[in-house]
Amino acid sequence: SLTSTSTLNNGVKIPWVGLGVYKVDKGEVALDTVKSALDLGYRSIDTASFYENEKEVGQAIRNSGLSREDIFVTSKVWNTEQGYEETLKAFDDSLNKLGLDYLDLYLIHWPVPGKFKDTWRALEEVYEQGKVRAIGVSNFQIHHLEDLMKDAKIKPMVDQVEFHPQLYQKDLLDFCKENEIQLEAWGPLGRSRYLDDPVLNELADKYGKSPAQVMLRWHHQHEIVIIPKSTKPHRQKENADIFEFELSEEDMRKIDELNQDKRTGKHPDEFP
Ligand code: NAD
Repeated sequence: SLTSTSTLNNGVKIPWVGLGVYKVDKGEVALDTVKSALDLGYRSIDTASFYENEKEVGQAIRNSGLSREDIFVTSKVWNTEQGYEETLKAFDDSLNKLGLDYLDLYLIHWPVPGKFKDTWRALEEVYEQGKVRAIGVSNFQIHHLEDLMKDAKIKPMVDQVEFHPQLYQKDLLDFCKENEIQLEAWGPLGRSRYLDDPVLNELADKYGKSPAQVMLRWHHQHEIVIIPKSTKPHRQKENADIFEFELSEEDMRKIDELNQDKRTGKHPDEFP
């Protein structure tokens, strides 16, 4: 269910399924989107300073009447905010916008060359101060992780990367498992570009599920945390309803084979 969790390498629990809110407009849309997700039982929200909706995310959490400790809140430091001092400030800005006194997870949004190690020291600092329960990175390739871990005091708990059947990054997934870094998929629905894939549709018919649910279940069986985005309550419900069926090993392999190394977003080595 939406309360089932993965345990990070520091013992903190993160829900397997959360709501992503990239491109969810600030104002009413963001408030309504987070409200409906919380009403449906979502307990994890993935935002970022770049999304410009932290204020609404925080407001919707307070409006829900749920206890703070029952909700897992993630935010991220944007590229232009990187560097040690800058990141300490960006972190406080995010906390203030959200109106919270701690975050559950704070991520480096992209590996800005020459900066991400200083940024990481700031994340270690806020972690040690108890202002965030877990720290991690996003859009880090294996080489970025290796480079970071050479100098880090604390190893990242999470790497959030673009991941879906058309971008099955098996080497990165294996590396993260070996290093006890929880992989989290952004764009787990491939931003809805591949939902007409014949294999996904054939499997959807076989299991009596939608192609989106088959995609999300595939991630779950690979032990990947997912944060599908939808502003529509019926789709939020659909995306959360992936716990009561199981893809066979053979069907998992069929989906693995859909990989085309195809990105919907920028390549981490070219951006920023
Ligand atoms: P996604 O794969 O979650 O796809 C979202 C789109 O799919 C929606 O706009 C909607 O139109 C459609 N959709 C949702 N549910 C559906 C369903 N059941 N059936 C059919 N269509 C459906 O893409 P995303 O929003 O880019 O990624 C999810 C979240 O990941 C974001 O909201 C954000 O929180 C995070 N993210 C992080 C980064 C990063 O750099 N760290 C980058 C992009 C996104």
